[in-house]
Amino acid sequence: MASQTDTVSAGSGTASASASPTPAARVVTRFAPSPTGFLHIGGARTALFNWLFARHHGGTYLLRIEDTDRARSTDAAIEAIFDGLNWLGLGGDAEPVFQFARSDRHAQVAHQLLDAGHAYRCYLTQEELAARRAKAQEERRPFRLESEWRDADPATWPADKPYVIRVKAPREGETVIEDVVQGAITVQNVEIDDYVILRGDGTPTYMLAVVVDDHDMGVTHVIRGDDHINNAFRQLVIIRAMNAIEGGWPDPIYGHIPLIHGADGAKLSKRHGALGVDAYRDEMGLLPEAVFNYLLRLGWGHGDEEIISRDQAVEWFDIANVNKGASRFDLKKLLNLNGHYLREADDARLVDLVAPRLDALVPAHDRAKLAEAMPVLKVRAADLNELAKGAVFLFAQRPLALDEKAQGLLTADARAILAKVITRLEGANDWTAATLEANLKQMAEELGVGLGKIAQPLRASLTGQATSPGIFDVLVLLGKEESLARLRDHAA
Ligand code: GLU
Repeated sequence: MASQTDTVSAGSGTASASASPTPAARVVTRFAPSPTGFLHIGGARTALFNWLFARHHGGTYLLRIEDTDRARSTDAAIEAIFDGLNWLGLGGDAEPVFQFARSDRHAQVAHQLLDAGHAYRCYLTQEELAARRAKAQEERRPFRLESEWRDADPATWPADKPYVIRVKAPREGETVIEDVVQGAITVQNVEIDDYVILRGDGTPTYMLAVVVDDHDMGVTHVIRGDDHINNAFRQLVIIRAMNAIEGGWPDPIYGHIPLIHGADGAKLSKRHGALGVDAYRDEMGLLPEAVFNYLLRLGWGHGDEEIISRDQAVEWFDIANVNKGASRFDLKKLLNLNGHYLREADDARLVDLVAPRLDALVPAHDRAKLAEAMPVLKVRAADLNELAKGAVFLFAQRPLALDEKAQGLLTADARAILAKVITRLEGANDWTAATLEANLKQMAEELGVGLGKIAQPLRASLTGQATSPGIFDVLVLLGKEESLARLRDHAA
């Protein structure tokens, strides 16, 4: 766990709004999840863009766990977040910072702001605030806090009454953010409220903590979901006040990335596949490189390239090319990519990933056989579950249980053909795919039937299913003895 003094020195010192810093300027990005739930797909993409941006510019990518909401933050969520990030290869470049452990430092900054007149003690009670809010609602006007304490002389601050510390937001002019994704965004300063930075019990608010941590971690580029755009304007109030007080608090460069929507355009929810990253790995059986590639393409592109390696992504990534509009989550595309990466994956690695899934399907399986079959199995699967299912026939006990489709294939005619195949293959000496293929093709010709008339009943009786790897590969993988025994179980 990071200690309170665990900080990184301040950033480049420039407040330039350029997406591409000068080579001399050091880039520091961060991913700052709140550990109130699993690492969802949107969070993973935010992490990915921060990681890529830092890598592309030879900078540093940091993690910060925003655990200030003590009631909702859990250790299990923290574990799940690290676990998901590590699986995707998006662990931070330094020890993660834990926000709650830095509360004293946050409070210190609140007091600096107070002492310099950029914040004030506000003694309005909850009841007074509620009454003002109710009145605004009654009069059908938006509620805007106008605290009479904003300009009160500190000499009049009561010593014995509870208060909060509010930041003094500017009232005149406007604030412009040159967002590297969204473009220029302008807000009138009267829209920005005097929000609380230190609560009555002396604890810092989230808004203060984020700003102080970003500064102390030397964060130069804040890349996060566009649901934080309003926060950026509010956070800049503290940043600019601190810069006025002590210097060295440049505006960060902001990049607010759009949310991910479901394929139907609605906000992403569980039913669209908005699962924790662990579900993509464990339940759906996806490979991390497929999820990485998919997330990368979700809202960012390089021409028509679909398959993009990690190294290529680092070279090509440009935050300015992130789409402004929401991107749509497409499970089919993700599965297609996964199929591609399965075909590319190393066989031994796939054996490690598939073997535990096979335990639940066929207890008696062996890794050597699985490894031998992997080249033909992996080309047919979209995910590791399918891959495991496709391997079941290798280890199934005779007589095989046939699924419905396989049963449908084993008509009386088909069983008669099986009997002929058995006679023919009993005499086969060379049990290789090429020889078996030539042999059975010749048989089909002699019988005056298409090869499918032979292959389909063979497949049904050898695998118990209507789909499988190429039938000659199946024969070779099962070996002569086992193949013939399975065929005999179903021949007429
Ligand atoms: N902790 C915030 C969240 O999980 C992110 C805050 C930020 O990136 O500034 O949404």
